Amino acid sequence: MTHEAVIPASSRKVSAATQAFLEAPQGLRIGSDTDREGSTGTTFDSIDPTTERTLGTIASGSTRDVEDAVAAATKALSAPAWGPASPATRARYLFDLADAVTAHREQLAELETLDMGKPIAQARDDVDGVAAVFRYYGGWPTKLEGSINPVRQPYFGMTQLEPLGVCGAITPWNFPLVMASHKIGPALAAGNTLVLKPAEVSSYSTLLLTDLARGVGLPPGVLNVIPGSGRVVGQAIVDHPDVAKISFTGSTPVGRAILEAGSRHMKKVNVELGGKSANIVFPDADVRAAARGSAEAMWENAGQICVAPTRMFVHEDVYDELVDELARVTGALRIGDPLNPETEVGPLVSKAQYASVREYIDIAGAEGARLRVGGRALDGPGYFVEPTIFTEVHNDMRIAREEVFGPVLTVLRFRTEEEAVALANDSAYDLAAAVWTRDVSRALRMGKALHAGTVWVNTHGRLDPAQSFGGYSKSGNSRELGRESVLSYTRSKAVMIDLSA
Ligand code: NAP
Ligand code: MG
Repeated sequence: MTHEAVIPASSRKVSAATQAFLEAPQGLRIGSDTDREGSTGTTFDSIDPTTERTLGTIASGSTRDVEDAVAAATKALSAPAWGPASPATRARYLFDLADAVTAHREQLAELETLDMGKPIAQARDDVDGVAAVFRYYGGWPTKLEGSINPVRQPYFGMTQLEPLGVCGAITPWNFPLVMASHKIGPALAAGNTLVLKPAEVSSYSTLLLTDLARGVGLPPGVLNVIPGSGRVVGQAIVDHPDVAKISFTGSTPVGRAILEAGSRHMKKVNVELGGKSANIVFPDADVRAAARGSAEAMWENAGQICVAPTRMFVHEDVYDELVDELARVTGALRIGDPLNPETEVGPLVSKAQYASVREYIDIAGAEGARLRVGGRALDGPGYFVEPTIFTEVHNDMRIAREEVFGPVLTVLRFRTEEEAVALANDSAYDLAAAVWTRDVSRALRMGKALHAGTVWVNTHGRLDPAQSFGGYSKSGNSRELGRESVLSYTRSKAVMIDLSA
């Protein structure tokens, strides 16, 4: 592994637009106000996890601010430029937003990289994915059809789709822009308005995205963004009686609390939660491709990905070959300043995450897992932890059961297909799984047998706006992307007419 020892803050160049965005104190986005101070006047500092220095200051929202945002969002529901506007108008806003995202690709990527440490090449990919999500959902407003139903005579029965109203969205720090797009795209396509809270540690890119939406003419109040803490702003959105639906992506414990609170208020609550994804390599796989594909998926975003293939199960016949190749690819990774386009692994997002991942590395060692690659936290500044592989792991070890959310991979051995399925399914999480095999029948069997909301075959981590995504059980209760997501932001109403009257 190669890494730059210390990254001098002075050598880090970003565009003038990004510099100006960071230098201006950033406010709340409520209604037509794009730069409002919080009602309590408090702010928080955003930290660059690469240098541990403050990037800038952001207004912190309060319960009062959430009330104001919900009021603005409620008003926007009937604003002539939104509620009564034609579906084609809503489509146009989303297409224009997609174009604006593409036009501001570099600035959005720089903010993401500075704020949460994601390597810039990965941040650019995220921005491209966000534009694709808005383009996909731009196609939906004009296609949300109801139905005429075969009811008995002399009645005429029809079902029509309506927006839910004001929706609340709460996003995690690991894919700030992508997660925001998964909520904004379908919510707006269906004609709702939104109050969104990004994670405190990485709020910048969502603020710029909101400005871009206003820049393409999205009416005031349709998209409101309130940065601030989860316990204050997030909780206030969840508890607000006029918010019809909550869409939350984040950890399982917080998701559970939000589900409980939401049910008290009779809200629709969609949660996308944690993962501990199985990744199974069968002996008939292209072993090199499996090793490289798994490494790429595992070390992206320094392992801070809900679907990261953290539990790798390798057939005993190819175990040594696979682990050797995996170790070689991992050992050659370039760790360093995420602004450098050559960097493959950046820092972890925060001091808290850094401490937690280091603790898991210690736990794995104490449990008897064998350290094969990495294992060291680098001396600061910056929250860098080496990509780390543990072999000879057993499924009952904490390192194989709990979500580490960092660059730590565990490798386990199996003998039969049945054993692989049993091991993979023996997990509290059911978010995603991957299989590497060249046997079509086996691939299809695995697609049925694995308990996971997504099963990838000979690839990993690929999402597409046209295909829904989500987990089961402790990994979530809903789907994002695709038709399912836009429908989840609607309710259907039946209308029945007596034709003899
Ligand atoms: P988190 O701690 O659960 O926080 C997620 C969001 O919820 C943040 O905006 C947070 O605000 C807010 N929040 C915290 N407490 C809250 C409360 N009581 N009421 C309302 N909102 C509250 O998760 P994270 O650490 O940001 O993200 C990592 C987790 O997200 C991992 O478990 C990962 O697997 C999961 N994830 C899942 C998916 C998926 O699609 N299934 C995708 C990405 C990530 P603050 O942090 O600003 O206080
Ligand atoms: Mg930050």
